[in-house]
Amino acid sequence: MKILYIIPLAMMLSCCSSVKKQNNIASGKLDTQLLKDVEVLSLDAYQGRKTGTKGAEMARAYIIERFQKLGLKSYPPHVNYAQEFIFNDRKGTKVNGTNIIGYIPGKGNNVIVVSAHYDHLGVIKGEVFNGADDNASGTAGLLKIAAYFSKNKPNNTIIFAAFDAEEMGLQGAKAFVGNPPIPVNTIAINLNMDMISHSDKGELYVCGTFKYPDLKRYIDTARTDIKVSLGHDDPKLGRDDWTNQSDQGAFNAKNIPFLYFGVEDHKDYHQATDEYNTITPAFFSKAAEVVLDVVKRVDNQTGLQQLLKNKMIMRDSPQTPQKF
Ligand SMILES: [Zn+2]
Repeated sequence: MKILYIIPLAMMLSCCSSVKKQNNIASGKLDTQLLKDVEVLSLDAYQGRKTGTKGAEMARAYIIERFQKLGLKSYPPHVNYAQEFIFNDRKGTKVNGTNIIGYIPGKGNNVIVVSAHYDHLGVIKGEVFNGADDNASGTAGLLKIAAYFSKNKPNNTIIFAAFDAEEMGLQGAKAFVGNPPIPVNTIAINLNMDMISHSDKGELYVCGTFKYPDLKRYIDTARTDIKVSLGHDDPKLGRDDWTNQSDQGAFNAKNIPFLYFGVEDHKDYHQATDEYNTITPAFFSKAAEVVLDVVKRVDNQTGLQQLLKNKMIMRDSPQTPQKF
């Protein structure tokens, strides 16, 4: 008799899962590799990927292996993409950090830096802060974009930068712009992802067009499958101005144009519950597509000279006169 009960239950389950599948198809295909990358990087075994820990080292090994499989190049003297740096933490203790910097060469001298930090908060009071959204998600987005351009060669050189020590004050990004493997004035733009996988409202923000309105042309805000909003970049917003709150801030400090992609803070932000099972997979798959779409559009801009010209206009604005 039990079997008779089990069969209808099994039929019911398969029915439900096919309905669920149809909904997923209707709302867009889930990106399995993207989800796998987040799932792995936010496993308990990675111990929250705090800078200088064994967990961060494991995360690096995973990202390096993915970079190698995608055929990304490494800048000498970096070995296996590793850019090492030392900084003082907030208590003044010296900490070793390691960025992972790969690239795909383009035709001209201009460089696009696509970035995401891979570090997170580690283990706090015995609890692993897995950092699935913050920022295994951006790291997975970076790998997705690298995979696209490894098959479709870009016009411009694209650097894929997985930064360390963002949580300790954008330290990896600061080390990169302070000692880049290419001349800093060839960096046309930074496109940074930090928290792109968790939004119950289905809303992704793109920050940076307040300072660089011309960059709006690269962003498709008319998408109907996901809400793409511009904002969180007006200095009048105070703490809600995200301009310098993630790694793009280090580029902004050098007057390098930037766009930052991220969601608003959610209940799991900087909590131990920021885990793989609390992200929103359908939203995440689309959000990563949005970022890839922007990178493609920026890369298609002829020579990127217009961007560089805009940068000069910004520098020449009346508030900050240039001295020659
Ligand atoms: Zn973050």
